[in-house]
Amino acid sequence: MDLQLLRETLAAWDEPAFRAKQVWRWAAAGAPSYEEMTDLPAALRERLARKVPFSCLRLEREAKARDGTVKALFATADSRPLEAVMMRYRGHAGRTGGGRRSVCLSSQSGCPLTCRFCATGAMRFARNLTSSEILDQALHFRRIEEIDHCVFMGMGEPMLNLDAVLAACERLPAIGITHRRTTISTVGWIPGIEALAACDMPLRLALSLHAPEDALRSELMPVNERYPLAEVIDAARAFYAHTGSGTSKRRRVFVEYVMLAGVNDRYEQALALARLLAPEGDSSGAFKVNLIPYNPTGSEFRGSGRASIEAFRAALAGAGVPVTVRLTRGRDIDAACGQLAASAAGAPAPAV
Ligand code: SAH
Repeated sequence: MDLQLLRETLAAWDEPAFRAKQVWRWAAAGAPSYEEMTDLPAALRERLARKVPFSCLRLEREAKARDGTVKALFATADSRPLEAVMMRYRGHAGRTGGGRRSVCLSSQSGCPLTCRFCATGAMRFARNLTSSEILDQALHFRRIEEIDHCVFMGMGEPMLNLDAVLAACERLPAIGITHRRTTISTVGWIPGIEALAACDMPLRLALSLHAPEDALRSELMPVNERYPLAEVIDAARAFYAHTGSGTSKRRRVFVEYVMLAGVNDRYEQALALARLLAPEGDSSGAFKVNLIPYNPTGSEFRGSGRASIEAFRAALAGAGVPVTVRLTRGRDIDAACGQLAASAAGAPAPAV
């Protein structure tokens, strides 16, 4: 919902200021339409339905994977494609209906960066999304069920659209997602990392690294030519150091490392990564590594096998670097990391 249009419309109709807040409270709680907002006069609900679209996004398609992951393909009002995903995890997070519900949101339609293993990088970049378009992705899933985690790991580079991303983040707690459960993932766009460090909201930072040295990283991620590894790591360390100021708990940086067979998965590369993230004498524990099994995107790469991933994990752990292997979710509907491309969603999808 375009919240600015909502406020302006209500003001133009001489409605009291609290009306916009009322509408937002309902939307944030998962109301499916203006109709349900029973503390608003019925005539006002009808007028709003005509004047302020309930969502800025049109749902084009929705697919559900065997593991419960739901992927939605949306179009903006000017017909730009974008996707968002909800991942369901089993377990008991102290809530009814099961474990963690994490939404993966897009910040842009397409992506201007060209990481060679990522499907989004191969599609055409359209534009930045507005904060309302970002929020509407989360609201869509909130209408299905309660959600409590958010990652900006969908389409796009959030740091290239940080103002809109942060404006959306400000409203996520009302939807059920605290700042500490919100993670912004970046290719290592340094000005964005610095801006996030200076931001008042205690948001999390994830860094897509994928290689422990510059030559390989530049090959995989051309953005490394602009912001080389050592500078990116420094910026991430500064972020971590900054999060500890005052009474707030430090926020460790998540390092994402997608495992590509014969490219970045050798033992020596694990050791090089460990030296980079935890050089001798550094016990700050600024980083935690997530090893990501590669999801096929039609690129020239193959994913590392289980045994190589395990060996890489063990080498990092042995060198004192906290590390986990990320669960792959939604692969059968092309909703896993790096698979969010509009073309993939354009194929007929199973009904939800
Ligand atoms: N542009 C930001 C946000 C997108 S996040 C960033 O790169 O961090 C998407 C995550 O999925 C990144 O860590 C990205 O490197 C990873 N990814 C991309 N393609 C992938 C693939 N084919 N398999 C597994 N992970 C992939």
